[in-house]
Amino acid sequence: MCSIIGYRGSRPAARIIVNGLRKMEYRGYDSVGVSTLYGDRIETRKGVGKVAEVDKSLHLSAMSGTIGIGHTRWATHGGVNSVNAHPHCSNSMKISIVHNGIIENYQSIRQQLRGEGYVFKSQTDSEVIANLLQRNLELTGSIRESILRTLSRLEGSYAFIAIFESGTIAAARYKEPLIIGLGQSAYYLSSDVLGFSDHTEDAIFLGDKEMVLIGPSGMEILNFDGEPIQPTITKIEHELTTVQKGEFSHFTLKEIFEQKSTILRTAEAPWYDSKKMLDRLSSCKNLYLTGSGTSYHAAQIGSYLLSKYAKKRAEPMIASEVQFLPHFLDDEAVLIAISQSGESADILGAVNLAKEGGAEIVSVVNSPTSSLFRESSYSIGLHCGPEIGVAATKSFTSQLVAMYRLASQLSGRKIDPDFKEVSAAVSKVLSNSAKIREIAHDLEAVSDVYVLGRGIHFPIALEGSLKIKEISYIHAEGLPGGELKHGPLALMHKDVSVILVNPDDCTHSDTLTGAHEIKARGGKVIGISNVYNDIYDSWIEIPTVHDAMFPILESVPLQLLAFYTSIQKKVDPDYPRNLAKCVTVR
Ligand code: GLU
Repeated sequence: MCSIIGYRGSRPAARIIVNGLRKMEYRGYDSVGVSTLYGDRIETRKGVGKVAEVDKSLHLSAMSGTIGIGHTRWATHGGVNSVNAHPHCSNSMKISIVHNGIIENYQSIRQQLRGEGYVFKSQTDSEVIANLLQRNLELTGSIRESILRTLSRLEGSYAFIAIFESGTIAAARYKEPLIIGLGQSAYYLSSDVLGFSDHTEDAIFLGDKEMVLIGPSGMEILNFDGEPIQPTITKIEHELTTVQKGEFSHFTLKEIFEQKSTILRTAEAPWYDSKKMLDRLSSCKNLYLTGSGTSYHAAQIGSYLLSKYAKKRAEPMIASEVQFLPHFLDDEAVLIAISQSGESADILGAVNLAKEGGAEIVSVVNSPTSSLFRESSYSIGLHCGPEIGVAATKSFTSQLVAMYRLASQLSGRKIDPDFKEVSAAVSKVLSNSAKIREIAHDLEAVSDVYVLGRGIHFPIALEGSLKIKEISYIHAEGLPGGELKHGPLALMHKDVSVILVNPDDCTHSDTLTGAHEIKARGGKVIGISNVYNDIYDSWIEIPTVHDAMFPILESVPLQLLAFYTSIQKKVDPDYPRNLAKCVTVR
């Protein structure tokens, strides 16, 4: 959930680390810290806030040394304060670590180490790693042994990087990502290729239960049994290195506007092994879709499209719920796993469970180097480029495009979407952003927002309400229009705003009925539709397209409404409180 980074080379480490952390800030941003090794001393500076703020106050970039580690935290254990911020040093101050994930058995390790005289300064689970390494190093005299012994004791999920006073940097991963970048006489370690993509394109994706030792004599990769691993060097895609805001004030806005082109990129990207994949999907007995948050909403749309057009029943499941559901994830099943990052712990958990049962995995993922990509038999790439804003925008519409393509192929092209037309329609919606900004003005002060949609528009209502919650900090709820009278109508009053996702299709007149019921109770109604109706207090016009394609268009004004409301409320939409983009803890 956080990002960890490490460097060993000939250049000042701290500047490289701070720049890398800035690029990965989407992963977690409540506190920041850096340790460097200078001479035979490890220096650590850490504080609460975003990278730029802490760098400014503590001069992180100016720290000396050519070996170092850094961290941006998304707290799981212990409050957000500078003591709990990483890195954490061992009692001897000779080892410093940064950790991503959760050490589930940290209490018992802490108790044991306390019994041996160790003192703990923070409330984090992570600090046990530093002291366990110290204990095992003192016992064995070998860094390699100390790490292997430490790994055999840790339970949970983790990627950690440690620097040792002797000049070695070491790292290990279990269920959290860790990538090695190979530079000119320099090594980078990072949670995401963005951490080092300015410096090198050569990367090694460390596998689960693998560790790396980098010392004066070079690099050694081992599995958790201590056996050497022959690494594969991968070239990272050039597009991964472009993470600038350009002319936009925020990444979120840039990513919303990029959708006119990202939709086409997803639509035109080649699919590898597509015949085999489509055969497998059409022949499987049970088909499931899974995702978390926004990706789950894409799964719901996928389910709708597959059943309507391909006549294929595909059950959507929330990734974190898969473990509790009675299901048939066996060798007759295929699971379509949807994730932007491909590193979400809930998705990877669901995928593991499915694979254990014998099911085959088709992933729909933006990052072609992710764990999910590597865990799947077939993968559909989104190709929408890095998404930095914490609230998913362009990755969602690209997921929808992938779902349309899949449904179209499996249906023998009963829908044959013209994505050029959709992209032009998205441009038209975007050109209306000034009006949407005005409407957002009215949302700023409301206590509750309800987003209503029926049929295929219901998942869009859920997605719209999620955007509003995430970046506007307003209580928002997505509802199927027909459910209004079964309870939520009790909540309608003059301070409530209701957004209707209401294009002119088979759901239109039923949704309008709901609008009348809301207005009769004083609520305000914002209509997103290709046709005007005077029941709307505000109307956001979307172009008329093929019925099936409306959901892509409807998503855009909802994203813009959430974005502009956040700006009015002085919330930074790129980094909303308490959230992180890539949720690698369960
Ligand atoms: N569990 C650790 C903590 O709360 C690491 C969290 C993270 O991955 O940022 O400090």
